[in-house]
Amino acid sequence: MMRVIFLGAPGTGKGTQAGYIAKKYGVPQISTGDILRKAVKDGTELGVKAKAIMEAGGLVSDDIMIELVEQRLSLHDCDNGYILDGFPRTLKQAQSLDEMLRNGKQIDAVIYFDVEEDDLVKRITSRRVCVQCGKTYNVITDPPPADNLCEVDGGEIIQRDDDKEETVRKRLKVYQESTSPLYQYYKARNKLYSIDASRAVKTVREAIIDLYKR
Ligand code: AMP
Repeated sequence: MMRVIFLGAPGTGKGTQAGYIAKKYGVPQISTGDILRKAVKDGTELGVKAKAIMEAGGLVSDDIMIELVEQRLSLHDCDNGYILDGFPRTLKQAQSLDEMLRNGKQIDAVIYFDVEEDDLVKRITSRRVCVQCGKTYNVITDPPPADNLCEVDGGEIIQRDDDKEETVRKRLKVYQESTSPLYQYYKARNKLYSIDASRAVKTVREAIIDLYKR
């Protein structure tokens, strides 16, 4: 498995697992959410367009996202594979990705992170993140250090604005409407592997590694 999509609702732990697995296999983790957050922080044209949409829990337009990912996948660090984390998020994005990869470099597998929706609100609202390196913590399962500074680089640990409860509910609704059809899309193409992502981080990680070994 080289070219892999991590698919699932917000809060299922895709990002955490993608970071680990990408490092283990020496491939880039392409997180469209992280790319957009950086653009917002840097105040680029993309960031200015995306900011209000992200704060409201909506989706940035397909055209913008497709162009962004096409450019990113054309970089040479993607030659030996990658993990897409947070893209595609709509059927249009999935279809465009298939088009982009017509050169025989199709997606090998889609790992679906299965978690009951009731658990997700709790999980996301307890998430915290380092403003500098993006490392995630969880006030219940993986609490930040007492001084609230990241153990990796000393950055401040905060709650993302879009991890606050009202926005989380909106994001889950958007996920149900726009992203959940991708489950069937990839299942019909025999690419889907579902894992129970409600288990401990380490157990889920091992389940993913088992899939990579196949
Ligand atoms: P994430 O960190 O993946 O939850 O993404 C944070 C936010 O960035 C989302 O709520 C969207 O507003 C935006 N975003 C990230 N990826 C995409 C995408 N593929 N399509 C549209 N919007 C996206």
